[in-house]
Amino acid sequence: MKVAFCGLGIMGRPMAANLAKGGHEVTVWNRTQGKTVDGARVAASPAEAAQGADVVWLCVSDTRAVEQVLFGDSGVEQSLRGGMIVVDSSTVSPTATLEFAKHVQAKGATYVDAPVTGSKIGAENASLIFIVGGEKSAVDRLDPLFRAMGKDVKHMGGVGKGQAAKLAMNLQIAMIYEGFAEGLTLAKRLGVDPEALVGLINVSMVRSGVVDYKAPFVLKNDYSPNFPLRLMHKDIRLMMDAAQEAGLKLPGLEAVQKVYEAAANVGRGDEDYAATISLLEEWAGIAK
Ligand code: NAP
Repeated sequence: MKVAFCGLGIMGRPMAANLAKGGHEVTVWNRTQGKTVDGARVAASPAEAAQGADVVWLCVSDTRAVEQVLFGDSGVEQSLRGGMIVVDSSTVSPTATLEFAKHVQAKGATYVDAPVTGSKIGAENASLIFIVGGEKSAVDRLDPLFRAMGKDVKHMGGVGKGQAAKLAMNLQIAMIYEGFAEGLTLAKRLGVDPEALVGLINVSMVRSGVVDYKAPFVLKNDYSPNFPLRLMHKDIRLMMDAAQEAGLKLPGLEAVQKVYEAAANVGRGDEDYAATISLLEEWAGIAK
């Protein structure tokens, strides 16, 4: 298929590379110039990338970025035509997603929200899981592209339901990780060897995919970004906004949000979100 891919960050670049490797005709665009992908053509604007494409795929930071790529100067909108599918793999507001879809549909194209889980390693190994909202016929047409970049596709319902489910997933990831980080900090403060604690976790019911992924990095104090803290912080704000719109309270998440605010305030936003543990360690007086 002819695919325009907009956004070559930690996730987008390997995703676009896997599409090209899968034999698709890929044109890429990134806001900051100079990023390229083997086997893909580089376009000067989102509108140019989208010209003649079957599918326009986005993976950019946040809701504002999606809006700018779609509807800003030289945006994708200028090249939309009937039959085209716009797919958004960024994690953004479910409410804004409905608005974006309305504008895209007004041009005769179809909108699918397809945020992902699997992080940097999943993007590189083509083992992402796509969490999808949109019409089934469009989702079915996208199957060869999903298969080139991921290992599974979960269709959650109509437009916006992918983003809603993604927020529900990341809420749990943020809270499971904070549980691990607080447990590890307590254990270290009480004189338990961290590696022994992780070994215990891994043979018990406490084991989780989150701990499997993060513990090896945490044990090495390696907070180089796989999923930057600033992006999880953005997702937490999206969850709080969605909760407020729905009139519900998330008290555990409110507490976790305060940890992220403290981490952002001391300049840890560009590190991995696992770096929240280093704040706990400072507060516990056990920072290295
Ligand atoms: P990233 O490395 O920070 O890359 C962000 C991308 O968005 C870059 O290409 C950046 O362009 C572009 N961008 C930012 N603001 C823009 C704007 N106003 N207009 C146009 N482009 C803009 O982020 P990432 O880790 O790839 O994440 C991308 C999305 O996937 C986010 O929504 C994130 O929450 C989600 N996600 C990430 C992970 C993960 O583990 N990393 C996992 C699941 C989902 P420049 O190069 O010009 O800055």
